[in-house]
Amino acid sequence: MIIINEVKVMKAHVRMIKSKKQTIALVPTMGYLHEGHVSLMHKARNLADHLIISIFVNPIQFGVGEDLDKYPRDLEHDKKLAAQARVECIFHPTPEQMYPAGYATSVDVEGITSGLCGASRPTHFRGVATVCAKLFNIIEPDVAVFGEKDFQQLAVIRRMVEDLNLNVQIVPHHTVREEDGLAMSSRNAYLSPEERTHATVLYRSLQHARELYKAGQKDARTVREAAVALIRSAPGAVIDYVEIVDPVTLQPLGTIVPGAVMALAVKFGRTRLIDNMVIAG
Ligand code: AMP
Repeated sequence: MIIINEVKVMKAHVRMIKSKKQTIALVPTMGYLHEGHVSLMHKARNLADHLIISIFVNPIQFGVGEDLDKYPRDLEHDKKLAAQARVECIFHPTPEQMYPAGYATSVDVEGITSGLCGASRPTHFRGVATVCAKLFNIIEPDVAVFGEKDFQQLAVIRRMVEDLNLNVQIVPHHTVREEDGLAMSSRNAYLSPEERTHATVLYRSLQHARELYKAGQKDARTVREAAVALIRSAPGAVIDYVEIVDPVTLQPLGTIVPGAVMALAVKFGRTRLIDNMVIAG
């Protein structure tokens, strides 16, 4: 496994792979890898000849006052997990490599970025779309695997790839959870033991919504309110949003239709957690 820090070296490496007519799968990450990331790598491993992951804590997707400076990092541990998942190359650029002096371009995906996480993080998806567009241009992957855990991010990347006619196939991967249902996340490391216990309410509220739908409740407001009440019963939980939306347009639904997704963001102390689930279908 090789680690590449420079854009021009990465591009040369990609040219070498392409000259051998080999295909590339990419898993973009911000590092501090966990079993969720590893599961994406296993999927990607089977989709192309060559598996590349990126580890880059992308400064432009963090808003003012967010956790950029304290975002957890552990490259040595990441290398071990990546090697076990048979990753051939880690692209680990510095911010200066990705955004050199004079950098001035960004990618804005409109509409689907205004609600859900975009409402409280107005510059976040511009940062995500921009870095992914750059990674796709540098690494030229045939396929890129993204987790459904970041449901709105996946929709944004799909929209961008479609709109800009990018030559990459986007492959989704299911959310990997801890035994008690909490979605794995690098940010779970911020939670105190008490917060960690109460955070299971996210998964329980999604399941509860799904059960209500299964039992015949199709009114989105009723189901949403039941989930909100359950979350509020957990000590310390502060809701950012709980929405039932169309999986493609991300527009809130009045009536729950097959494929509908409940998406939520909840803060415990300073830690903001997101989760989602298809509740109908
Ligand atoms: P991150 O390092 O948080 O930017 O995540 C990198 C990729 O891993 C994104 O496509 C995420 O959606 C995905 N991911 C993160 N956590 C999970 C999880 N628990 N299950 C599945 N995919 C995940």
